[in-house]
Amino acid sequence: MNHEGVINRYRQWMDLPEGVEPVTLLEGNTPLIPVPALADELGGNFDLYIKFEGLNPTGSFKDRGMTAAITMAKAKGAKSVICASTGNTAASAAAYARRAGMRAIVLIPDGKVALGKLAGAIAYGAEVIQIPGSFDEALAFVVEISQKSDVELVNSLNPYRLEGQKTAAFEICDTLGKAPDWLCLPVGNAGNITSYWMGFTQYHAVKQSGLPQILGVQAAGSAPLVLGHAVDHPETVATAIRIGNPARGEEALNAAEKSGGRIIAVTDEEILAAQTLLASNGIWVEPASAAGIAGLKAQIAAGQIDPHGKKIVAVCTGHGMKDPDIITSRMTKPTLVPANFDAISAFIQGGK
Ligand SMILES: *Cc1c(COP(=O)(O)O)cnc(C)c1O
Repeated sequence: MNHEGVINRYRQWMDLPEGVEPVTLLEGNTPLIPVPALADELGGNFDLYIKFEGLNPTGSFKDRGMTAAITMAKAKGAKSVICASTGNTAASAAAYARRAGMRAIVLIPDGKVALGKLAGAIAYGAEVIQIPGSFDEALAFVVEISQKSDVELVNSLNPYRLEGQKTAAFEICDTLGKAPDWLCLPVGNAGNITSYWMGFTQYHAVKQSGLPQILGVQAAGSAPLVLGHAVDHPETVATAIRIGNPARGEEALNAAEKSGGRIIAVTDEEILAAQTLLASNGIWVEPASAAGIAGLKAQIAAGQIDPHGKKIVAVCTGHGMKDPDIITSRMTKPTLVPANFDAISAFIQGGK
């Protein structure tokens, strides 16, 4: 499979006008990594795969949607784009907008954006504005600004974001030859779960690829779709899903229900434990991205999902390098050992 970007690869399945020139960084085509040892650990005899979206050009799945949103903004002649972000949307918007020669303006909640994301947005040349408020407040401001000016909104309220993001479902079906039995993924503003469901239903209608049951996973301190009401002060270590009032909440609930799945919440401890489990299988993801595995683990343990003989895909949405602090703030510092052979070899033997 060659890298051509999601628009060139799946254009016939995407609702984009003819002839628009893609703004692409050759996103998508991410690996579906088998993790048999992790399936064992979760206590089942089943096929478990990680769709590792952290391997997109800016380190998260946001690039799939951003290629479509920025392609359309450029086609319309926009000079600037704007978004609210917990971090990954900002980095992605900045990379694609700058590539297309546009300004990228991003509003982020003060102090709650992981270091690798903020650095990314700045490195790509975004104009970053912090507000002393939540993601939800930032989103309300950028929606208003985009309505009252000719700045293009590239949050997942922009329908082209979903057009791009649904291609991940196509890739999973193309790789497995059909849809998995379950798809597990984190849910924040709920654009991604909505996109996956669009993608699976569209593919199934034409290719009879089947439909997965969908397990959407929120963080317990930030679980409006589980509680049934908005959360004013969402809190979680999983900053990418620290969202109290998801813009596509209704669509997410609908996707979960129609698929015969559900949306659940897991604690921060469960999320961090799942992050460690994934890392011990060679896959380092940011905390939010571990929520799918945390949710699957909890559901299997509670007898709510019987994985036996099934094909299950967990979507790992963003790379671990996005949020180094979550690791370094909890680690014990490496031991300082004298720089000589005997001391180093004694240390290694002692460590066994
Ligand atoms: C954006 C994001 C999410 C949440 O996706 P939504 O579409 O907002 O539900 C989850 N994980 C990571 C790493 C993200 O960047």
